[in-house]
Amino acid sequence: MTHVRRQLAAVTAALALTVTSGAMASPALADPRQTDKVPTVTGYGGAVSTVDPEASAAAIEVLRKGGNAADAAVAAAATLGVTEPYSAGIGGGGYFVYYDAKTKQVGTIDGRETAPAGITNDAFIDPATKKPYNFTPELVTSGVSVGVPGTAATWEQALKRWGTMDLGDALKPAIKVATRGFVVDSTFRKQTLDNKLRFNAFTSTQDLFLPGGDAPAVGSVFQNHDLAATYKLLAKEGADAFYRGALAEEIAKTVQAPPKTTDTTLPVPVGSMTAKDLANYKVENQDATKVQYRGYDVYGMAPSSSGGTTVGEALNILENYNLKDMQPVDALHHYIEASSLAYADRGAYVGDPNFVNVPTQTLLSDVFAKERACEIGPTAAKKPVAPGNIETYDGVCPSSAAPLADETDTENISTTNMTVADKWGNVVEYTLTIEQTGGSGIVVPGRGFLLNNELTDFSTEYKATDPNRIEAGKRPRSSMSPTIILKDGDPFLALGSPGGSTIITTVLQTILNRVDLGMTVSEALAAPRAAPRNGTTVTSEPAFIAKYGDALKSLGHQLVPAGDGLTSDPEIGAATAIEFNKDGSTTAAAEPVRRGGGSAMVVKATKGR
Ligand code: GLU
Repeated sequence: MTHVRRQLAAVTAALALTVTSGAMASPALADPRQTDKVPTVTGYGGAVSTVDPEASAAAIEVLRKGGNAADAAVAAAATLGVTEPYSAGIGGGGYFVYYDAKTKQVGTIDGRETAPAGITNDAFIDPATKKPYNFTPELVTSGVSVGVPGTAATWEQALKRWGTMDLGDALKPAIKVATRGFVVDSTFRKQTLDNKLRFNAFTSTQDLFLPGGDAPAVGSVFQNHDLAATYKLLAKEGADAFYRGALAEEIAKTVQAPPKTTDTTLPVPVGSMTAKDLANYKVENQDATKVQYRGYDVYGMAPSSSGGTTVGEALNILENYNLKDMQPVDALHHYIEASSLAYADRGAYVGDPNFVNVPTQTLLSDVFAKERACEIGPTAAKKPVAPGNIETYDGVCPSSAAPLADETDTENISTTNMTVADKWGNVVEYTLTIEQTGGSGIVVPGRGFLLNNELTDFSTEYKATDPNRIEAGKRPRSSMSPTIILKDGDPFLALGSPGGSTIITTVLQTILNRVDLGMTVSEALAAPRAAPRNGTTVTSEPAFIAKYGDALKSLGHQLVPAGDGLTSDPEIGAATAIEFNKDGSTTAAAEPVRRGGGSAMVVKATKGR
């Protein structure tokens, strides 16, 4: 991390030098590229936290010009599409949660990708072997994994429902950044190199992200004129230009016949998406999930994401215990057990509600949670624990423990999250993704953005009883958990994270850190993480294992270091948050270290003008 900071500082200094050596030193001439990152800042007049300083600066620019949190969030998201193209962009989807200060209501937009009408149950089965494709890099690098993107429609809908700007104005900062370019940092270079095999499978992706055969150098300036042109098209014609006409035709063609290089060894299964699938795409305006936890109202994302129900159920289970007065290890034992129980129910019951009957109310009921809490003993239950019985629950402990279940899960580190607040008190929590880091690996030729591989969030093998089985037109189950917490109707804390299925545990653990364990918001975010997801082992960051590993082991928990799964990353999540302080200030918090550190900014440092 120190290393990253030093490199960035060097770049900043070099840029400043270039400017001041050719002209009189003038702040007006300073290079506008943002490279400095501050993880925590308290101030007034609006605040933002993202993983990237260009995106945070875009939000602040919009807030300063009088835009509100929805406007600023779209501006920041579009900028992340430029600077974090491997995590998010118009080729993907996400979930947008909004607190409206005037009505004191929380509303949400489900902008999840959908499966095309032509997808079949056996889409992920290799016809040659009759077995599922190997997950990565084979299945994820494919047309068949691409869902109909929801992000452009989400932006337009968010602006229509809550914003004050049109899409054209909200896209301006991102168009600027794509045109003038941003400074490549070591995270961007590493993510590019990690994807070399996949990116080299497509001519369009090679051209954009591996110019001259290598990832862009740290400190170089990366411009994306194709994306600037695509954003200009959307700015002029609206999101319709994405879902109909030439661009939609090109997206469909790219999915059906990815621009494969001649020498790639990857199989690249093709997809079935048509222009009609794009024309039929619709975001869903959903009611937020809501649970009460220790006097706070916790709002989250309803299915098709499992975020709201799983975070909510775990909190409800934990409300049966006084974590505050426990030893930290005992509190963490309860966290691991509650999270595992909620995960069991997530696996058994949560999918796209347009296709399966999701018992959202039951999963969020205190009575159900009380009965689930019966499974928590003084030591670790044998995992995986079984899902609860949603038909016959009464809050009374059953006479025998639940049987074991069969549970598998994947994790990855892609996706990005942002938190934005404005001077009127409106708040946005928005998580957006293209699934894997680098999505499907396929850039739409000449358009400057990667297509997602979100459909790999469906279960790979089709089982008729699985709520997350592949079906045409369905949204794959997500873990994204944008969360807004109110106290007496006013915002207290908003937070979210990337991290695949570890998103849920990162959000849950951060809430517990803040609400129960006495940490400040920045401490809560920085604290080492564990991701209990009802497996036989608990994936944990090395620092968590060093601190709690022995004590938790004596309670029967087996911790394994993060980074031994699908990715080599030892970190879990890259969260962002804003806390609304009692004195009227706001504290924006980003990661101090994970993923190279995030960027928190406020409109004003002091209360005055
Ligand atoms: N596709 C994942 C989900 O929707 C997010 C991917 C990630 O965060 O890495 O849950």
